[in-house]
Amino acid sequence: MRIPPFSLEKQLYEIGDDLDLAVSKVLRSGQYIGGRQVDLFEKSFAEKLEVPHVIGCNSGTDALILALRAFGIGPGDEVITVSFSFFATAEAISNVGAKPVFVDVDPQNFLLDVSLLESAITSSTKAILPVHLFGCPVDMHAVMSVAKKHGLKVIEDCAQAAGAFFNGKPVGGLGDAGCFSFFPTKNLGAAGDGGAVATHDQQIAEKIRELAVHGMPKRYFHTELGYNSRLDSIQAAILNVKLPKLSDWIEKRTEISHRYNRLLRDIQEIDIPENSFNEGIVHSWNQFVIKVRDFDISSKCKNEVNKPYENSMANNLPDSSCRDWLKDELSKEGINTIIYYPIPIHLQPIYQKKDSRSLCLSVTEELSSQVLSLPIFPELTIEEQNYVVDIIKSLLSSS
Ligand SMILES: *Cc1c(COP(=O)(O)O)cnc(C)c1O
Repeated sequence: MRIPPFSLEKQLYEIGDDLDLAVSKVLRSGQYIGGRQVDLFEKSFAEKLEVPHVIGCNSGTDALILALRAFGIGPGDEVITVSFSFFATAEAISNVGAKPVFVDVDPQNFLLDVSLLESAITSSTKAILPVHLFGCPVDMHAVMSVAKKHGLKVIEDCAQAAGAFFNGKPVGGLGDAGCFSFFPTKNLGAAGDGGAVATHDQQIAEKIRELAVHGMPKRYFHTELGYNSRLDSIQAAILNVKLPKLSDWIEKRTEISHRYNRLLRDIQEIDIPENSFNEGIVHSWNQFVIKVRDFDISSKCKNEVNKPYENSMANNLPDSSCRDWLKDELSKEGINTIIYYPIPIHLQPIYQKKDSRSLCLSVTEELSSQVLSLPIFPELTIEEQNYVVDIIKSLLSSS
């Protein structure tokens, strides 16, 4: 059996005709920028997120940049975020001229450790940028109360969390702005790049609209240096076909995740984030991530270990031998897994250069050497999932 980490094959089989029709309608309409499909998507997504304003843009990265800019965050400002995320989270902060201040993550759920927030605040702090990583909502109650106390803005990175809820409320509408990505592998994926910002604040919404179109509140009248960042009409039409299916897809991802959890939780060498199954959250399960503990590989190996299992890209990281060994063995059996993320952002060459201060984020660094994302997409069958589980069990059972 061959199992990819992610596949659109069955989704395209199911809704391919609807997508063809939607795309060809836009193509034949001649209206490629803005127009009905974009308006409709922004309105429907806003309803789904229970916010009055959604502004489409070119990508999740742009959504973050636009939100930061709209709140006036720039040179001299600090934004508190995590290093255990996709690079774009910090890149957006740096690209508006501000400084990302990284705090460590909670080993229980791999998310921003909210107990570390207050000690990271300085007189330059302007905002907190929590990441609902893998689709798991951050404790927004805690984040918002710290933000309120210190007068900070909260910009949620919801790139992986479209359709997730915290305490009955959709993520993206909990902070001052929520940033979404429609990159094809996200839960709500376009056929190319796309993104959106959600907000309750009308002035911020207007500001984002202006910044996204060259800082232009009126035609050919420019009050800011903005961007050219729009959600294409064709992408909006595709998202309009997919949005009504999002909840169903998340339900299927949830079933798959609960099943993985049930079948894998007793394996000694594997940790699964417990808090992901808490009451009060709807996790969007963009990824199902396990943590592979260190163990004696030679006790599992039928064949001789002939490869040094080290993270070759960053030699200042802890040894990642066991996770990498498991990944390799799974791939030999046709199961393709992914490492999100092998090098934490603060250890990336550009941030090592920028910030000579030697920052140590021990949980983040350990996770980067131990996490592994198992295949998950709504159409993954029980047979395929059983195969993944059986192979993992056979690899990890002592011989
Ligand atoms: C995908 C992603 C982004 C960036 O989204 P793009 O649409 O690819 O620009 C930002 N943050 C996180 C956590 C992501 O997963």
